[in-house]
Amino acid sequence: MYDVVVVGAGCAGMRAAIEAYDTGASVGVVSKLHPTRSHSGAAEGGINAALGNTAEDSPEKHAFDTVKGSDYLGDQDAIEIFTAEAPGDIYQLEHWGCVFSRNEEGKLAQRPFGAAGSPRTVYSADITGHVLVHVLYEQLMKRMEEGSLVVHEESFAWRLMVEDGRCVGVVCWDLVRGGVKLVTGRSVVLATGGMGRIYRATTNAYSCNGDGMAMALHAGLPLKDMEFMQFHPTTLYPSGVLITEGCRGEGGYLLNRDGERFMARYAPNALELASRDVVSRAETTEIEAGRGINGSVLLDLRHLGAEKILTRLPGSRELAMTFAGVDPIYDPIPVRPGAHYMMGGVATDNWGATELEGLYAAGEVACVSVHGANRLGGNSLMETITFGRRAGRAAAEHALASGRRGEVSDAPARDAERDLAQLLSRTDGERPWKIRDELGASMLENFGVFRYPDRMERQLELIQELRERYRNVVVEDKGEIFNTDLTQALELGYMLDLAWCMVQAGLAREESRGAHSRPADFPERDDERFLKHSISRWGDDGPELSYEEVRMTRWQPEVRTY
Ligand SMILES: Cc1cc2nc3c(=O)[nH]c(=O)nc-3n(C[C@H](O)[C@H](O)[C@H](O)COP(=O)(O)OP(=O)(O)OC[C@H]3O[C@@H](n4cnc5c(N)ncnc54)[C@H](O)[C@@H]3O)c2cc1C
Repeated sequence: MYDVVVVGAGCAGMRAAIEAYDTGASVGVVSKLHPTRSHSGAAEGGINAALGNTAEDSPEKHAFDTVKGSDYLGDQDAIEIFTAEAPGDIYQLEHWGCVFSRNEEGKLAQRPFGAAGSPRTVYSADITGHVLVHVLYEQLMKRMEEGSLVVHEESFAWRLMVEDGRCVGVVCWDLVRGGVKLVTGRSVVLATGGMGRIYRATTNAYSCNGDGMAMALHAGLPLKDMEFMQFHPTTLYPSGVLITEGCRGEGGYLLNRDGERFMARYAPNALELASRDVVSRAETTEIEAGRGINGSVLLDLRHLGAEKILTRLPGSRELAMTFAGVDPIYDPIPVRPGAHYMMGGVATDNWGATELEGLYAAGEVACVSVHGANRLGGNSLMETITFGRRAGRAAAEHALASGRRGEVSDAPARDAERDLAQLLSRTDGERPWKIRDELGASMLENFGVFRYPDRMERQLELIQELRERYRNVVVEDKGEIFNTDLTQALELGYMLDLAWCMVQAGLAREESRGAHSRPADFPERDDERFLKHSISRWGDDGPELSYEEVRMTRWQPEVRTY
């Protein structure tokens, strides 16, 4: 038994593991991927902290921008902790060896990002996530050599183990050797990342299926604000590969088919650097009004010149050339909104603690909530680091204080073996792919950038139909070794349950706030009725919805314009 088990090895999981270890705990990390293949590694644009290296800035300004960006749904105490601790966390990363880009004075460079009052996004060209993941992995390896930190990579966590009202580990499927294994600990930190794959058009890796959120949901824990899925304004058509907001930060324009910089009509001050929900809605409106090209608009970088593109945005150029056949030095890039980031997740306090004793959560799987109804670009990587550190510390302190306990029961392993054997013994039925495709396409159609009551109702019915079909799902690969057919069937089960929570919460939220926009029936924000968090819990007949107050410290809701 470890002191702390960390499930997930992206930025949040690795940062939590390092902190737990440095607090004195033995640590087991479980990950279905090799750590450096986590989706965090795909992050491009950067990470936000008010260092004030390019223009005057302060944690207070960062906090205000985040509160406003969240459309006042973010918990302000969490946001104040976040923005105050972010600069120290950046310097720590820098001292560990992150090669951040620098300005002429030799200080860490900071680029402007959407809805930020000051340039505060620290970056490594446009491969920031890649750099972070590799530096964190290096730190992990250093601690592995010392002994009491072990990484169980290619282990698929499937269920949380709960004993006497405490979380004591996870039930895993061993991808390399096959078979069920238990990884037990006195504390568990969920850091399994997001769930963009629930949509057909998404920037997220194939591994982002909301596993941790679903595990927590089925262990009786509340999920918070699940209706808020962020659509990123610039994803390549048709693959969904992300083109970073850094392109607009460096001065890129958005054009419609008439060559018009249409953002002037939607956000006259911030233009392309309005917040993401605003830009995604503007693009969708242009496309639906027939001013798009093949369902997309154009991101024009040509006026930046070859040198700036080659030094600041080399990765984006390569992506555009590979996936759209366009060299942005000479031609504009076709882009459209795509599902990008889940603002909601497992409800935690400011130390990452959940309602279940011994269970913590950090990173995209969690909802602290610093992002509220809309996340600012660059705030998520920072959240994985700051709250990953906090959750790792709290989990270690809990484990060390709880002292030694006897071994836990292995009954969960036998239950899992029985259930998996049953699933694998089925020989006829439907394969998961079609159900997965239909879920992704219909979520995009019925629960996308704009949401309409009839379409949401239809989506709820569809999810029930898909769940019904899922009961007969068949896994054709009966093998033990790298049976991704099996794990993808399990992931589909998670996604169907989470989609239900999302649409149910969206239908009940009769207002437009942040990423949740109902232009036909409730076009305005309604603070009277809905300045509150949606809470989804799994009941006997599916998710049950309730509400919780938003924690406010300094900022009262104001009209939100950019
Ligand atoms: C293309 C792209 C670009 C982005 N760019 C930026 C940016 O520039 N700035 C910014 O702030 N944010 C950005 N984001 C958002 C940000 O990168 C993510 O929100 C953040 O990295 C998530 O980190 P995480 O550690 O929570 O999860 P992840 O990095 O997704 O890691 C999840 C981990 O959990 C493991 N895991 C998942 N399920 C299981 C399971 N069942 N069993 C075992 N292990 C499991 C995986 O193996 C993985 O190790 C971007 C996101 C995308 C998709």
